[in-house]
Amino acid sequence: MTGMLPYGRQSVTEDDIAAVADVLRGDWLTTGPQVDAFEADLATWTGGVGVTAVSNGTAALHVAYAAAGVGPGDEVVVPPMTFVATASSAVALGAKIVFADVEDETFCLDPAAAAAAVTSRTKVVSAVDYAGHPADYDALRKSVEGSDALLLADAAHSIGGTYHGRPVGSLADLTTFSFFPTKNLTTAEGGAVAALDPRVLERARRFRSVGMVRERDELRHPDEGGWHQEVHEFGLNYRLPDVLCALGRSQLRRLGEFKARRAALVARYDEALADVDGVLLPTRKSWADPAWHLYPIRVLDGRRREVYDRMRAAGIGVQVNYIPVHWHPAFADLGYRRGSCPVAESFYSQQLSLPLYPDLSDTDQDRVIDALTAALRVGSVRTAA
Ligand SMILES: *Cc1c(COP(=O)(O)O)cnc(C)c1O
Repeated sequence: MTGMLPYGRQSVTEDDIAAVADVLRGDWLTTGPQVDAFEADLATWTGGVGVTAVSNGTAALHVAYAAAGVGPGDEVVVPPMTFVATASSAVALGAKIVFADVEDETFCLDPAAAAAAVTSRTKVVSAVDYAGHPADYDALRKSVEGSDALLLADAAHSIGGTYHGRPVGSLADLTTFSFFPTKNLTTAEGGAVAALDPRVLERARRFRSVGMVRERDELRHPDEGGWHQEVHEFGLNYRLPDVLCALGRSQLRRLGEFKARRAALVARYDEALADVDGVLLPTRKSWADPAWHLYPIRVLDGRRREVYDRMRAAGIGVQVNYIPVHWHPAFADLGYRRGSCPVAESFYSQQLSLPLYPDLSDTDQDRVIDALTAALRVGSVRTAA
């Protein structure tokens, strides 16, 4: 038997390696022609919505919140069933996080809970396309209607997915992506921000590049000299280098293939596990064409911990996605309480992600299925005894 099967991993080909090596031999290592080209390629997946590449998915969120004008005292509505960065990157700008529960079924932000959480201080409502299944954006749009809040999609899981036939990246005012190795495509570390409003996109671009203004018609002191550039609003260095943008462009050529292979693996899991007692399988809304990033099952009867341990012992790298964000001590220390988002918290207590990635072979997937059914059987024998 080989080593531990991971729950997710990159798929890198010789073409990807050649694309990176080409850039290393050229004149540009960081901001050069590959950045613009990668952003243009990404925009073919967002339905033409403008994109700026950044250094990772957490930076994408920080940039998006900054572009939305989030600052001290503003509120940002976030579902707890996500990676902590969806919330912590807004805290970094001084925002107060208001957690709103998720829907049973998709475990994406519940539009009714979001509407109830919106106040006059809400700057952004952030949905998360959990596991690659898009949130219900038309309903979420109604939740922010009548307020000044922008809608953000944390699409770290869902690039390539569609909602009512419309592509992820075009569904919210701001969309953020991550290209971490386990995600649907990778640049090692990387991310991107898409924005419907070109002015918001420009603010995002500037924040990513230390806030630097170079456009002559916008300079406060345009006649200072040819070298001159100005900072009007503070930013950070969140640029994605040319080397990694070349990898991203090469990976994007296979995003359709990646999505199809992930969907085929999901269909195989669905079929193989349909009649297995003690678990619930992920479901899909009729209006969604998910770009499955995770295969999140629910282990019933309080057996998640036991099944996790058995799977790990069997060499299957299952994962739990995610600890409810408000349970992190940093949030608990701010006064956030367990029990405030019961749907997300109950889901967490059962959740287990099975391995899912394009290079997972049918044979290895069968190993996962066998290990899971064996782990579940152990318990049922004990119950029967
Ligand atoms: C991975 C992820 C992020 C953060 O992306 P990084 O590239 O790891 O910084 C943010 N939100 C969600 C939902 C994620 O899965």
